Amino acid sequence: MSTSWVSPFSLPGIWLKGNLHTHTTRSDGLYSPEKAMAWYNEQGYDFVALTDHWVHASGRTWEDGILSISGAELHGRGYHMLTLGITEVPDRTLEHDPITLARLINEQGGLAYIAHPYWTGQTSAEIATIPGIAGIEVYNAVCEAMVGLGHARVHWDELLAQGMRLYGLAVDDSHWRHDTQGIGYVMVRAERADEASILEALRQGHFYSSTGPRIDDMRLVRDADGRLSLRVRCSPCRHITFYACGPLGRRFTAPEGRSLDGAEYPLREEQVYLRVECQDDAGRTAWSNPIYIADLDMAR
Ligand SMILES: [Zn+2]
Ligand SMILES: [Zn+2]
Repeated sequence: MSTSWVSPFSLPGIWLKGNLHTHTTRSDGLYSPEKAMAWYNEQGYDFVALTDHWVHASGRTWEDGILSISGAELHGRGYHMLTLGITEVPDRTLEHDPITLARLINEQGGLAYIAHPYWTGQTSAEIATIPGIAGIEVYNAVCEAMVGLGHARVHWDELLAQGMRLYGLAVDDSHWRHDTQGIGYVMVRAERADEASILEALRQGHFYSSTGPRIDDMRLVRDADGRLSLRVRCSPCRHITFYACGPLGRRFTAPEGRSLDGAEYPLREEQVYLRVECQDDAGRTAWSNPIYIADLDMAR
């Protein structure tokens, strides 16, 4: 099957669990970097990005082997921007200019993400004016816990429907004062357990995000008529929902008292993209990254 979509589940390598948005005493977090890293290590995480406000953290290996990924959080009026894989924080005098900041981050070889847009009040139309954005926080645990504004599914879908290519992150945004650490995380399919491999997997979209459920497999299959479908397998869930442009997706719901561990849904040109959410009985969710229909060979 000739398509340019590569399922992370088909790749060699290892699954690594990480939180990509963390504050410490280097900005407005209550835990020191050492204490924060030790907490995530105890919880079985493989890596953490220390993303203090306008403060650069380098990647390194900590005691007990947990990794940190270089990063920072930048912000100004109307936006917050999570950055990973950078070597230095851009000059703060540019805080009024997210377009230039995103360009400078890309020039460093880094990744720029829109953080918690619902909380910030940043619309999808505003996000669409910023080139060079790798993705969006589809879930931010602290914004959800404080004011119920942690989700950005609508922002994400509006931008994807316009043809933008954005990956979705679930993050804690831990500040160690609201008990929101250990909720939103990414599962990354990396070649090796090192910073460069994790950043490359994030760049390629070889990961999914979650607040609990596990995605076990995603693959394209063709039926006897040559029709292409996306097949997903996951830990037991109540809903498996395929999101595409407008109403062109579909929700599958388990019958009362039972659960779903997989679903399959056909791909069509007019969908523009297809992504999957798997939601369990507790409302916890796993978010796949989108597949872009333009990348697929729809004909047999
Ligand atoms: Zn923020
Ligand atoms: Zn933050």
